[in-house]
Amino acid sequence: MCKPMTHVGTVYLVGAGPGDPELLTLRAARLIGAAGLIVHDGLIDAGVLALARPDAELVSVAKRRARHTLPQGEIEALLVREALAGRDVVRLKGGDPFVFGRGGEEVEACRAAGVPVEVVPGVSAANGAAAAAQIPLTHRRHASVVSFVAGQCKGLAEQDWAGLAGRGRTLVIYMGVKTAPQIAEKLMADGLAPDMPVAVIENASLRAMRVLRGPLAGLPELVARHRVKSPALIVIGEVTGESDAALTRIVEGASA
Ligand code: SAH
Repeated sequence: MCKPMTHVGTVYLVGAGPGDPELLTLRAARLIGAAGLIVHDGLIDAGVLALARPDAELVSVAKRRARHTLPQGEIEALLVREALAGRDVVRLKGGDPFVFGRGGEEVEACRAAGVPVEVVPGVSAANGAAAAAQIPLTHRRHASVVSFVAGQCKGLAEQDWAGLAGRGRTLVIYMGVKTAPQIAEKLMADGLAPDMPVAVIENASLRAMRVLRGPLAGLPELVARHRVKSPALIVIGEVTGESDAALTRIVEGASA
């Protein structure tokens, strides 16, 4: 006897960009608009979710009030379970799914379960923030190398950033607001000049965007005094001096 054919859904790992819905790819906007089920992160802007069908089921994997998200294993199990039940799933992630987004793990889980998966790139926060603040990440005069690192507490001390920042190089730090003091200390211990210019871009691409600039040594104070909150990026390097003055809300200290 033949087994009945069971339909397996597809998981679409979709990058939602830094916030502004105008920065979605056409493919992302189409998939969001057509989806019956969207599993999304906490950081996804309401303007992006507003593109979903009125009857779409929206599942947030962020329990914002409790300030923690569903464990990664449970997110993966949810995606696989729904796909094996025959539903297509749009898994919506901030920025690009493959830049500090644990997209790699979700792809692995789908593959292991035999679930078809497609990845749709998004504008990562570094690119979105650089464009919004008019800070070129590379520049013929200032930088020919750019690196992205994660600055959150866990593992920060063990990370080797030597050589990633300095003359001719741009370093972009994700998730570094809370650890700004340790970040400034770490970079100066690696030999970076205390007056190396830095920029902090909060809520890039959104109406509430703020761009702050100052020297590396003043980074902890800059972040504390202006009560910078997540989501924000820290950019270290001479390119930050190129940011549009009209867009820079706050400039302090030596590099001003
Ligand atoms: N996959 C995402 C990054 C997820 S990690 C991407 O490619 O952008 C989350 C971090 O991204 C935040 O802590 C913050 O550092 C950064 N971020 C995301 N959106 C941002 C925004 N609109 N403005 C500034 N930083 C942002």
